[in-house]
Amino acid sequence: MLAITNVNLIDGTGRQPTENAVIIIDNGVITKTGTDIPVPEGIDVINAKGMTAIPALSDAHTHFSGSSFFERPPLGRREKTYDYSEAREACLRWGVLTVRTAGDIVPDILEYKKDVLDGKITSPRVLAAGPMFQARGGHPLNTVFMSDEEIEKNACIIIDDDTDIESAVKAVCEMGVDWIKVFYAHINKMDYPNYVPRLSRSVLERVIRAAHRLGKPVMVHVDDPDEMLEAAMSGADCIEHMIGVGAGKAQLSLELIELLKSRNVTVVPTMVSIQRFDDKLEGAAPVWEDLKAAVKKLKDAGVPLAVGCDSGIPLVGHGEGVHDELMFFVEAGFTPMEAICAATLGNAKLLQMDDKTGSLEPGKMADVILLGSNPLEDISNTKDIRLVIMEGRVVFDNLR
Ligand SMILES: [Zn+2]
Repeated sequence: MLAITNVNLIDGTGRQPTENAVIIIDNGVITKTGTDIPVPEGIDVINAKGMTAIPALSDAHTHFSGSSFFERPPLGRREKTYDYSEAREACLRWGVLTVRTAGDIVPDILEYKKDVLDGKITSPRVLAAGPMFQARGGHPLNTVFMSDEEIEKNACIIIDDDTDIESAVKAVCEMGVDWIKVFYAHINKMDYPNYVPRLSRSVLERVIRAAHRLGKPVMVHVDDPDEMLEAAMSGADCIEHMIGVGAGKAQLSLELIELLKSRNVTVVPTMVSIQRFDDKLEGAAPVWEDLKAAVKKLKDAGVPLAVGCDSGIPLVGHGEGVHDELMFFVEAGFTPMEAICAATLGNAKLLQMDDKTGSLEPGKMADVILLGSNPLEDISNTKDIRLVIMEGRVVFDNLR
């Protein structure tokens, strides 16, 4: 058993913080939180005076085998990434204890996911999309991945109007994925402003229908509001990126906002990934200010926004990127409390794990970050990490 005492507790539900709180952890699970809670004798105690506890964070959009360095390969096999050591260690160090990978090499990521579940590796828990469905000659294989053969064979499923979509989707589901990922975008970021082929609306719809029949949610990568509207009309559960660098259009219509809301579609704007590249695409008008305004509009309308950073692409580091995304959520109009809730309980709901994680409440896994300063005063204080606890075990210790 373990007790954290004298802590300023932010529980992830949006409730006001509790000062001088106690958190009791038994067998990896939170059993009690609050004030006036007796600490059983003889158990380990962490006196967290002056510190703030928040739930561990999650990254709703990562590429676990990718790297933030341009000179490294874009996606790697398990042995080439030293068992995803860079991503794994960075996530633990930054308190990011659940990730949804949005496209990685298979079967490697799925075998890794299983090894984590079986307790063979200390790692953030992984939900995986498996190989990515995309148009022949389209994004991302034939743009940013420069037609890389290994990525084509092991991380992509090329489809077109003639593909037996039912069988293709079934095969991916049978691999053991948690989500289906589809690209519905045609900006060529390597040859702007030229376009590459995009899936037809009917193929997109067929992929989504097939996935839903098999009980899998679908995340759709889009680059502008028109694609977003069509993806939502086609039944997407989750929209990735929203307004990408190079988007010709960046204004959200009332129709789109109403549709997202009525269908409860979650948007993962991956603001950090857009911000990093906003001035790097020659000839493209910047979209950063429009993106911030769009995030604010969705938030005000009550559309769920999830925190993912597209870590594993160049310039976006695993783990730390989530904290940058939080900062940008606040820049876009979230309060620090709202941003923290989005990256904890909000993400857990999207990942259908909110019965197990996402908040510091009795019955939840003890996934806790202790901060040296208060993130409600300044959201960048989420980076002031003193201790990370995963299921009751310390996985990063910076307490001294
Ligand atoms: Zn991505």
